[in-house]
Amino acid sequence: MAASPSVAVADGKRNSKKPHITETPITWANWYQHVNWLNVFFIIVVPLMGFAAAYSYPLQRATAVFAVIYYFNTGLGITAGYHRLWAHSSYRASTPLKIYLAAVGVGAVQGSIRWWSRGHRAHHRYTDTEKDPYSVRKGFWYSHLGWMVMKQNPKNIGRADITDLNEDPIVIWQHRHYIKAVLFMGLIFPTLVCGIGWGDWVGGFIYAGILRATFVQQATFCVNSLAHWLGDQPFEDRNSPRDHVITALVTLGEGYHNFHHEFPSDYRNAIEWWQYDPTKWAIWMWKQLGLAYDLKEFKQNEIEKGRLQQQQKKLDIRRSKLDWGTPISQLPVMTWDDFKTEAAKDDGRALVAIAGVVHDVAHFIKDHPGGKTFISSAIGKDATATFNGGVYQHSNAAHNLLSTMRVGVIYGGGEVEIWKRAHSEKQNGFIMQDNTDHHIVRAGEQVTKVSPQQNGATTV
Ligand SMILES: [Zn+2]
Ligand SMILES: [Zn+2]
Repeated sequence: MAASPSVAVADGKRNSKKPHITETPITWANWYQHVNWLNVFFIIVVPLMGFAAAYSYPLQRATAVFAVIYYFNTGLGITAGYHRLWAHSSYRASTPLKIYLAAVGVGAVQGSIRWWSRGHRAHHRYTDTEKDPYSVRKGFWYSHLGWMVMKQNPKNIGRADITDLNEDPIVIWQHRHYIKAVLFMGLIFPTLVCGIGWGDWVGGFIYAGILRATFVQQATFCVNSLAHWLGDQPFEDRNSPRDHVITALVTLGEGYHNFHHEFPSDYRNAIEWWQYDPTKWAIWMWKQLGLAYDLKEFKQNEIEKGRLQQQQKKLDIRRSKLDWGTPISQLPVMTWDDFKTEAAKDDGRALVAIAGVVHDVAHFIKDHPGGKTFISSAIGKDATATFNGGVYQHSNAAHNLLSTMRVGVIYGGGEVEIWKRAHSEKQNGFIMQDNTDHHIVRAGEQVTKVSPQQNGATTV
C-alpha cells in the first residue's frame, strides 16, 4: 500500500520523547490525527474517484481484456513475488523473473517489497496477537483495511528479520524508488499500453490503472481478513487462519490459509491437484522454463501428521460430549458381601456385577433386547461369564450402554478378580487419555469386555 513511504517517514522522524499519536485516546478534537490520510487517499479516495469516472466513461473491449490480463500479472506480483518469493523464500527465482515480479508487484499499489514482507513476517510470527500488524482479533474490517487507514504505532509491530531482503539489490532498488515505480507501473504503464495500443488513454487510466489496482488491493486485503475469518481449519485451530475456496478464487490461490500458516515456506498454498491455486501453477511453470528453482515442499508425512492430529482433536471434542459412564475411579467401592446385601434390598434398584463393576439395570430390564428373563436372572449375581458369551456374546454397543449404568466397583473377592487385574494393567500406563483428558474407550475395550480365557480363569 501507499503506507510504505508514510511508515518509512514515521520510522525515521519519530521523536522518542513525544508520545506517538496512537498512544493518546481518540477524541473529537484529535481523531483526524489518528487517520493515515495518505493511505485513505490511495485506498479509498482514488478508488471512489475511479468508480465515479467509470460511470461517465464507457469501457472498451480491448481495454477490458488488457485490464484483466494486467490484473492477473500485478496480482501474481503480490502472491508469487511479494508473498511466496520474498516474504517466505518458498522458492528461488532467476534475476529476470525477480525483476518482472518486482515490477508487476509494485503495480499492485501495495507498498514496497521490503515494507510488505516485513509486515507479513510479523503477521506470521505474531498471528492474532497485539504484535500482528493486521490481527483479525481486532475485527474483520481492521484486518481488511482499518490497519492501513488508522495510524499504527511502529513500536507495537512485532520484530521480523529482513536481513536477506536488505541484501537483495532488486528489493532495495524498488524500496528506494517506490513512488516513481508505483506511479509508473500502477498508472502510467497501463495508460500507455491502452493509449498507444488502441487510443484509449482515458479508459486505460481509469480501468486498467485505477480500478484494476483497486481490485488487486481488495483481493490482497481479503487474505488478511477473509482468510482469517471464513472456512475450515484442517491443520490447526489454535489461531484464526482458515481454508476456503471462495477466498482462494478471490486471491489467486492464497485462500488455503490454514495450510499456509502451518507450512509457510511451502511454495504451494493448495496441496490437492483439484484446488484452485494459480500462483502455485505459475511458479511450477516458471520452474519448467528454468526461471524458478529450489521450490520448497513440506514432506507429505509431516502434512498428514498435522491433518491427523487436528482430526483427532475434533474427535476428542465429540467424544467428550458423550456419556461414557461414571469413571471407574470415581465409583464407590464395595465388598462382594456388600454387593449381595445391596442387591437383595427391595429399593427399586437391580444390581448386576460384571467384570468387577456393579451396574444398576433397573430401568433397562423392560428394554432388554434379549427379554426380561435373562437379565432378571442375573440380578444379585456376577454375570461376567454370562454377559461375555456364557449365554450371549454381547455387542460392543451393549458394553457401551452397560457402562452408563455402572454404580460401583467390587473390592477383592474371588469372583471379580478380572477387573482388578485388567485395571491394574491399565494403571501401568495403558489408560489412554484424549486432548480433553477424557479416558478413551476403544471399541471392544470396555472394562466389562472379558476375553474367553479370562472368563474361563474366573470360573475355575
Ligand atoms: Zn495470515
Ligand atoms: Zn504468508
